[in-house]
Amino acid sequence: MNNFEYQNPTKIIFGKDTIEKLENEIPQDAKVLLLYGGGSIKKNGIYDQVKTALSKVKVIEFGGIPANPEYAKLMEALQVIKDEDITYLLAVGGGSVIDGTKFLSAAALYEGDTPWDILTQNIRTEKGMPFGTVLTLPATGSEMNSGSVITRAETKEKLAMGGPGLFPKFSILDPQVIISIPERQLANGITDAFTHVLEQYMTYPIGALLQDRFAESILQTLIEVAPKVLADPTDYKAASNFMWSCTMALNGLIQKGVPTDWAVHAMGHELTALFGIDHARTLAVIAPSHYKYNFDTKKEKLAQYAERVWNITEGSIDDKAYAAIDKTEAFFHQLGIATKLSDYTEDYEGTAEEIAKRFKARKWMGLGEHQTLSPDRVEKIVKMTY
Ligand code: NAP
Ligand code: FE
Repeated sequence: MNNFEYQNPTKIIFGKDTIEKLENEIPQDAKVLLLYGGGSIKKNGIYDQVKTALSKVKVIEFGGIPANPEYAKLMEALQVIKDEDITYLLAVGGGSVIDGTKFLSAAALYEGDTPWDILTQNIRTEKGMPFGTVLTLPATGSEMNSGSVITRAETKEKLAMGGPGLFPKFSILDPQVIISIPERQLANGITDAFTHVLEQYMTYPIGALLQDRFAESILQTLIEVAPKVLADPTDYKAASNFMWSCTMALNGLIQKGVPTDWAVHAMGHELTALFGIDHARTLAVIAPSHYKYNFDTKKEKLAQYAERVWNITEGSIDDKAYAAIDKTEAFFHQLGIATKLSDYTEDYEGTAEEIAKRFKARKWMGLGEHQTLSPDRVEKIVKMTY
């Protein structure tokens, strides 16, 4: 196992009817900016629950943060934070609203020229404006980590940021929110969380026995609950296990002491930036080709995954590893998620070259756990997804 340090300061408040506990978490003298997305919270009753819980504090609202939180929209929110002397942010939504709020947390205290620099110059945020979240969509793990991904439509870019100052102070996870989530977003959530685990697990084995089993248990749980959640979102047992699995998939725990990959996300982000494809779907497009292309360095772990997660016990290491890639792709298909770029756009010619060009321009010369995935290799992987 590699050396590591681990600190996760986010308080999790999990369970039925927990949104009412909001009032205990936000300082009474705070001036709060309540941030939300396209309005689903007004239809499913979450907004009313939040407003009731916040009746004793000063609250200003900012809605309309789109899926793949958009820089231009967030800059409008930043102006509200400054004009209204906001002291505390509250994200009520999925990964997009939470990531947008993290950007605002950083931008509100940023003293440089333009907050876009935080994204382009990899500026880590040591201290942000305090914020909490009410999670409405299990998927990203953003509710318990310090990362964020921001989109800029103007330049077709999607870039990541983070830092120890960007952990939520608290996150409220009431699995009952799942009832109103459309099937497409449930499938996305399962796929995103599943791929988060793969990014931190599908690397050369280094004897981190406990981390491997943590990762495998999250994958197994997601496989078990996925059909149940899709068939009946009111199934609380399935919903609660789904929600906690998504959080555990990306709260930092399973990546401690092990090499991590994250190349699937790096390539996937470009597909969202170029074509607007849902985040999770871009991962389902890239992952199978990524594992096939990097077969030699990943096959031992793929075979372990085959045995422990998919119960594939017959055949050689290579046989098991290939079978595991097929099983993973079949799982995405079972969720209704297509795994070829050509399933999402007819305009795919030239995508691989464009992504390789962008990575070169950003000097991303070696992605993956061994930093060996050069832009030329990225180009080959993306071509395999057509
Ligand atoms: P999302 O983009 O936050 O939301 C997708 C859609 O689901 C929105 O239309 C939203 O509506 C709707 N929705 C959310 N909760 C709902 C509910 N309870 N009932 C009905 N509809 C609901 O989806 P996401 O998958 O959570 O987030 C994706 C973003 O997170 C991407 O930008 C991705 O890159 C990023 N991400 C971040 C991390 C991280 O660690 N920070 C990790 C992976 C991905 P409203 O607009 O009305 O809310
Ligand atoms: Fe993700």
